[in-house]
Amino acid sequence: MNYKIALLKGDGIGPDIVDSTLSVLDKVAARFGITFTYTPYLMGGCAIDETGVPLPEETIKGCLESDSVLLGAVGGPKWETLPGHLRPEAGLLGIRKAMGLYANIRPVRLYSALRERCPLRSVEAFDIVIVRELTGGIYFGERGRRQGANGEEAYDTECYSTTEIERIGRVAFEMAGMRSKRVTSIDKANVLESSRLWREVMHRLAAEYPDIDYSDMLVDNAAMQLIKNPAQFDVIVTSNMFGDILSDEASQLTGSIGMLPSSSLGGTKRGLYEPIHGSAPDIAGTRTANPIATILSAAMMLRYSFNLAEAADAIERAVEGTLDAGYRTRDLGGTLGTDEITAKILELI
Ligand code: NAD
Repeated sequence: MNYKIALLKGDGIGPDIVDSTLSVLDKVAARFGITFTYTPYLMGGCAIDETGVPLPEETIKGCLESDSVLLGAVGGPKWETLPGHLRPEAGLLGIRKAMGLYANIRPVRLYSALRERCPLRSVEAFDIVIVRELTGGIYFGERGRRQGANGEEAYDTECYSTTEIERIGRVAFEMAGMRSKRVTSIDKANVLESSRLWREVMHRLAAEYPDIDYSDMLVDNAAMQLIKNPAQFDVIVTSNMFGDILSDEASQLTGSIGMLPSSSLGGTKRGLYEPIHGSAPDIAGTRTANPIATILSAAMMLRYSFNLAEAADAIERAVEGTLDAGYRTRDLGGTLGTDEITAKILELI
């Protein structure tokens, strides 16, 4: 079977971490008798330099014709003074929108080998997936300024439709089915009407998935519980803003931003897979970036877009084995560079 992968290497450390990931994909391809065809497209600062815009039409077309998209990272000081719609990050929002990606999935895992890197004093290893609604809620609602009785006011609106809640809920329940079969939905239903509808829809869905252990939690409590006992969670599903905040909180418990993969999915199998970190301009060109977040993003692509669970497992086990053997990049307190850690992971596949 051949899979067509569009590559958006981007800027800064992007090309290094994507190239390292391609060597991992090639190794699993050889081992499992699969083939991958890679087509690079421009997005971000590199696209601005070549074409004047962060997201050329050709890139959108290429991504929509591919089976999935692997992205490094975009941005850097060179493009920071450009107007918002011409900045590299506009490419990122544009491609998510063009591909109709409404679910952002962030696994947050503390490996046993990295327990000492977690800022919590006593913590069990944990493995959580945060499913965040990505295209609705307060970030997309009506907003503005107006004159009120006491002078100038500003407002933002949180609005969710049943359809939006149901489709993100299904992503979470399906994901839990592939894992420990637990879903926690996080809302603020004691105050917000949008959260009350969110909760109603989630309860209806929970009845459709009787094998999934479902619970609700208020967001303020969830922020506490993530610090108190992160291992209690399996799949968390939440709205755009709560997911934004909670996933950054959770990411800090794993040792380094260089460890965290993500995927964004829509109504089809085609997804956008990328590390959660940026282009790390401070270490660009030094070949010291940790490629693990991107390598684990590729493993997610194999699992969720291509149904290649065994190949995904092989990558995830190789990453864990490399960490268990004590190999570390600089962000994890070690000395290995991008190429050296990649070589260790390749040995274990
Ligand atoms: P960043 O994630 O790029 O870097 C933050 C810190 O983490 C830096 O010290 C960096 O060296 C380190 N770091 C990040 N990834 C690492 C890795 N794989 N290995 C080792 N160390 C790593 O965030 P920033 O500095 O705030 O942003 C830099 C640029 O990236 C900006 O232009 C920003 O807009 C952009 N950005 C892009 C994305 C994306 O492409 N999805 C996401 C966030 C930021």
